[in-house]
Amino acid sequence: MTEISKNTMDQPINILIVDDRPENLAVLESILDDPGYRLVRAESAEKALLALVVEEFALLILDIRMPGMSGIELAQVIKERKKTATVPIIFLTAHSTGDQCVLEGYDAGGVDYLQKPVHPAILRSKVAIFAELHRKSREVVLANRALLAEVIERRRAEEQLRETVQELEAFSYSIAHDMRAPLRAMQGFSGILIAEHAAGLDDTGRGYLQLIVGAARRMDTLIVDILNYSRVLRSELKLQPVNVEDLIYEIAATYPDLHADRADITVASPLPRVLANEAALTQVVSNLLGNGVKFIAPGVRPRVSVRSEEDAGVVRLWFEDNGIGIPQHSQGRLFDIFTRLHLSEEYEGTGIGLAIVRKAVERMGGSVGVESEEGQGSRFWVQLQTAENS
Ligand code: ADP
Repeated sequence: MTEISKNTMDQPINILIVDDRPENLAVLESILDDPGYRLVRAESAEKALLALVVEEFALLILDIRMPGMSGIELAQVIKERKKTATVPIIFLTAHSTGDQCVLEGYDAGGVDYLQKPVHPAILRSKVAIFAELHRKSREVVLANRALLAEVIERRRAEEQLRETVQELEAFSYSIAHDMRAPLRAMQGFSGILIAEHAAGLDDTGRGYLQLIVGAARRMDTLIVDILNYSRVLRSELKLQPVNVEDLIYEIAATYPDLHADRADITVASPLPRVLANEAALTQVVSNLLGNGVKFIAPGVRPRVSVRSEEDAGVVRLWFEDNGIGIPQHSQGRLFDIFTRLHLSEEYEGTGIGLAIVRKAVERMGGSVGVESEEGQGSRFWVQLQTAENS
C-alpha cells in the first residue's frame, strides 16, 4: 500500500449528527467520543444538507423530529441525491410516537433506527458496524484505485517499450541497409583485383585478397539475414491460401545447393494448402531446406523429405533431414536469434535463419518445433492453419 493510501486509511471516519437540540448532540458526542470518529454536528436538516455538500460522510445519525424539515424528509433528499444516496442513516426515534411505523414503510437501503433515550452501548455497536463497513469499502476503493493506477502505468510503459522497439528496429534496418552499399564496393573492387591484377600479386597477396572476398561475402549474408529478420518483424503479413508443394519446387529450383546434382529433396505429395503469407513462408521453407542440406556430415549426400499431417484445420509440415542432428540440451534455444551450435569454420552461418522461421510462423498464427538426436538427423516442423476451407 502506498504512503498516501495508508494515510487515508488511518484518517478518522466522518459522522454527521443531526438534532435540533444541542443537549442531545452533546450526549451523542460523549457516547461516540473515539479517535476513530470525527463528529460533525448540524442543528437542523438545512444545516445537515449544507454539511453534506461540503464534505463526505460515512454515516448520518438523524433525529426524526425536528422543526422545519423533518428527519424523514431530509433522508428522502439524501437518498435522491446521487452523491449521498448510499450514505447509511441511523434514525433516532421517540419511544411513544409512531415513528417506527413510519420507518417500517421507509424503503431505502442502509437504514437503521434507535429509540430515544439512546442506549450508549447499542449506539456504539451500531456505529461501529457502519464504520467497519465504511472502512472496508474505503479499502476496496483504494485498492481499486491503486490497481487502476498500476494498469495505466503498465500500459504507458508497454506503449513506450513498443515505441522504443519500433525505433530500434527501424534504426537497425536502416544501418543494415546502408552498410550494403560500401560492402558492394568492397566486393566489386576485390573482384576486379582478382580478375585483372592477381598476376601482379604473390601467393600471400592473393591469399589476403581471398580472405577479403570471403569476409565481405559473410558480412553480406549477415546483412541480408538481418534485413530479412527485420522485414519479418515489421511488415504486415496478409494471409492467403498458399500451395506449399509448388513453393518447395520453386525454392529447390532457385538454390544451387538444393539442385538434384547436390541433394535429394523429396515431397510426400500431395501437401495441403496452408493459410500463410507467401513471402514469409518462402523465407521459412528456404531456411529449413537450406539448413537441412547444410548441416550434414562430410561425404554424406544430403537428403530432405517434406511431408504433412493434418488435423482439425491445422497442418503440420515436417522437414526431415539426414544431417548431423542436434543435441537434446541445445534444442530449447535453437530458435533464438544468433544461436549457433557449430563453429563458422565447420558450417557457415549467421544464427538468424531459425529466428526468422519462428518469428514468421508465429506472426502467421502458427508454431514451430524440432525433434532430433545427435547424429540421427533432424525433424523440424511448422504448424499453420489449413487453407482448404477458405
Ligand atoms: P545458421 O544456419 O545461419 O547458423 P540458423 O538460425 O538457421 O542459423 O540455425 C541455428 C543453428 O541451429 C545452426 O547454427 C546449427 O547449429 C543448428 N541447426 C539448424 N538447423 C539444423 C539442422 N537441420 N541440423 C543440424 N543443426 C541445425
